[in-house]
Amino acid sequence: MPSMSEVFYRKWRPKMLSDVVGQEPVTKTLRQAVTLGRVAHAYLFCGSRGTGKTSTARILAKAVNCLSPVDGEPDNECAICQSINEGRALDLIEIDAASNRGIDDIRNLSDKIRFSPNEARYKVYIIDEVHMLTEPAFNALLKTLEEPPAHAIFILATTEAHKVPLTIISRCQRFDFRRIPLDRMVGKLAHISQEEGVEVSEDALRLIARNSNGGLRDAENLLEQVVVSYDPPVTEENVRDLLGLGGDEMALDLVEHIIGKSIAEGISTINQVSSQGNDLRQLHRGVVEYLRAVLLLKTRAGTDLGYTEDVLSRLESLTGGADMAHLVSALKLFASADLRRDTSSPLPLELAMVESASAPAPVLAPVPVVQRPVQRPVAAAPPRANAPQPRPAPAYQPASPGPRQEMTAPPASQPPAPAPEPAFSNNGEVPSEPAARLEYQWRDITRSLRHVGSKFKLGALLNVCKERDVVDGTIVLKFTHKSNMERMQQELENPECRRAFNDVMVKAMDKAYEVRLTVANGSGGGTMQGASQKSPLVRAAQSMGARVLAEKEEETS
Ligand SMILES: [Zn+2]
Repeated sequence: MPSMSEVFYRKWRPKMLSDVVGQEPVTKTLRQAVTLGRVAHAYLFCGSRGTGKTSTARILAKAVNCLSPVDGEPDNECAICQSINEGRALDLIEIDAASNRGIDDIRNLSDKIRFSPNEARYKVYIIDEVHMLTEPAFNALLKTLEEPPAHAIFILATTEAHKVPLTIISRCQRFDFRRIPLDRMVGKLAHISQEEGVEVSEDALRLIARNSNGGLRDAENLLEQVVVSYDPPVTEENVRDLLGLGGDEMALDLVEHIIGKSIAEGISTINQVSSQGNDLRQLHRGVVEYLRAVLLLKTRAGTDLGYTEDVLSRLESLTGGADMAHLVSALKLFASADLRRDTSSPLPLELAMVESASAPAPVLAPVPVVQRPVQRPVAAAPPRANAPQPRPAPAYQPASPGPRQEMTAPPASQPPAPAPEPAFSNNGEVPSEPAARLEYQWRDITRSLRHVGSKFKLGALLNVCKERDVVDGTIVLKFTHKSNMERMQQELENPECRRAFNDVMVKAMDKAYEVRLTVANGSGGGTMQGASQKSPLVRAAQSMGARVLAEKEEETS
């Protein structure tokens, strides 16, 4: 059995085809092929990230080489299975096309492929993110695929099949991996938390699954992160907190009440946020954004608002009950509610709530003139999906994009560093004192970074960074848990993430600052303190944080 020090997704990686979650049509066909001895020489596995492509490829490599396979499945016991499971099999060659995309890499491969396998029956080549290869490299690969040696099997995996030349696709048996259905994902997460002996509520698991866009790896990483960051039993609230969804949810509730003209419920929501000590400005911003989104959806102008499927469907459901004039007047009222003088007073929002529900509909102005927060979703321009097409991990990005990439990638928006959504303004209302400015911009900073990160998203990590300061020209981010700080560090070591992070910080702070990560006083650091640290799981997970740092990032899609 794998040790506790492994991260969840690696520890719980499937070892048999029948363990792969949610891809039964694919795995059934593959098992049959193995059983009947009808294995193809080239496969193309397509599907979004975290759907099990690489895991399935590795299992297939075992199944075709296993000394005593059972029903097309590897036995995971023979010498070959074990050497593959332990990552030391010479006849399983994994290539990350993102970092080996050139002609030389493929030529090198074509040269070696002629030699017989070392110990196994087949030499299996897994080429991940194959769409990243350059054109000459594709041509070299094609030559090999046209006349593959009998002992070679190619498994090409890609998140973007449309970028793979048809000549290559036509040489492969193609399998499409679907997004993992929510229930299946929840089931797998429940299984993991049960086996790990940590209590996580069903609602929390569902929220994790919903925020993972059908990718199990993201879900498993998120589960791990929440388990490390919060004391069990882990609640939906914890996950919201981690993902920075808290304010959004309340804002959505409030928008529902505004559109339904339910004054009492609306005021109660505002007061709830206020009495829980949450930031009313955050609620304010959220409400204006969502109202605007409903307006855009209603006018069918909003096609890509960048919300999760979940939020989007709630917003869409609101368009029916909202009449345009009321919507515009509510948007104006809330946009002009002024919370600058007294940020803790719910009064401006309460007034806007009452007025919006009772005011006669105004004459329609052509376009609502709105202030800063309202303009944000406009900036949500990068084609970041409502749910689909998560961006590939930065690990796949070549250090210097070649010509091919320039042709296919949208300018100035490399996948791991999507253009930040909120436009940081620099008008009079933004505090000039650095620490105050950091607080003021914090939410937008975390939001801008919620899709940035290779393994852990910077936004989620920053959401659990509860203390920050600016000291002597350096931004100090204090994490409650050492492991989260280390994750942050690890992500920032990736040049793409670092650049995205720096860009966002400069935009928010209007100048470049040094950034220092520390562990908040009295918890974590080298010494274990606090209730959460008593749990053996958390302790193990924390020691894992350090280890993950030292390990090479490994891909399982
Ligand atoms: Zn075996």
